[in-house]
Amino acid sequence: MAILVTGGAGFIGSHTVKHFTDLGEEVIVVDNLHTGHRGSLSNEIFYELDIRDTAALEHVFNQHPIEAVIHFAASSLVGESGQHPHEYYHNNVYGTMCLLDVMRRNDVNWIVFSSTAATYGDPERIPIKEQDVTSPTNTYGETKLTMEKMMKWYDHAYGLKYVSLRYFNAAGAHPSGAIGERHDPETHLIPLILEVPNNQREKVYIFGDRYPTKDGTCIRDYVHVMDLASAHHDALNYLRAGKESDIFNLGNGNGYSVKEVIAMAREVTGHPIPAEVKERRDGDPAQLIASSEKAKQMLGWEPRYGSLRKIIEDAWKWHSGEGAGKKVSTISERLYNVRLAISKSSFK
Ligand code: UDP
Repeated sequence: MAILVTGGAGFIGSHTVKHFTDLGEEVIVVDNLHTGHRGSLSNEIFYELDIRDTAALEHVFNQHPIEAVIHFAASSLVGESGQHPHEYYHNNVYGTMCLLDVMRRNDVNWIVFSSTAATYGDPERIPIKEQDVTSPTNTYGETKLTMEKMMKWYDHAYGLKYVSLRYFNAAGAHPSGAIGERHDPETHLIPLILEVPNNQREKVYIFGDRYPTKDGTCIRDYVHVMDLASAHHDALNYLRAGKESDIFNLGNGNGYSVKEVIAMAREVTGHPIPAEVKERRDGDPAQLIASSEKAKQMLGWEPRYGSLRKIIEDAWKWHSGEGAGKKVSTISERLYNVRLAISKSSFK
């Protein structure tokens, strides 16, 4: 049976798809390609569709025996979510409801869900544990928390089993350099820093240097995208073992300040990377560090790429290589076009 990955052409989705296929899992990807990239996938079966299009989604479930769903498809920009709450509720909350209902109709009862540290808001203690207060400070985090709660009540009423994975700061790239992080517009710290040695920007801005932290800049827990990918497989196996629904943090338990991240990028790239302090960004907590003990104990999660150096080295390999700017015109792209034509014609 196949694993359906929604949002599988996005940053964490595409790395998870690669991890799953490397393990021999059969994967079907759906993505509306609004923010995902077809070139981040290879020759998996792919459907370009929006999960709110339930007829199209139903068609995919009818075509393939689906064992479980890994659900990434969502809008995920904090700033944008504050300006467009309707779109965020529609795409994230309503989209998840559509997906869960198609799953119910097709007797698919396992889902691994892509959640976020933004569900906590300003933490009351560090490191953050799963049972801590959830009080999101932005629409994005609020929609993810609502999606988690929806799954909880679907479990209660319909027996849906879910694992929700609350990521801290996803970063890095596949160690091969084949796929990496690509957002448009880019808002994340590590890719923005690497645009400087890549001659795409002159300097990086530090959003505030008067936080109550060791050097005044915000502290985050950066976690390698391949460690996130492997956690999804651990979570799937946890569900396969018949375990109960639950929520897990995913981070390294190490906090690095913005200045420390820039310093490490200077070491890795050998470039001076000029930086300038600007005003704070709205809604940025001073410090976010995870306790991931629960994921290690209950899912058997073993992060392999814990060091910030490795995270930045792999990100740099991708950004400085041909991958980052590559236009998709590969064999897999042509195969995709053929598949798309077939799947579109079968809707008619
Ligand atoms: N940040 C920064 N300059 C930038 C982008 C981000 O100083 O150009 C800071 C941001 O304020 C936060 C940290 O870097 O403290 C990580 O931000 P990012 O957007 O990568 O992830 P977030 O923590 O918002 O999920």
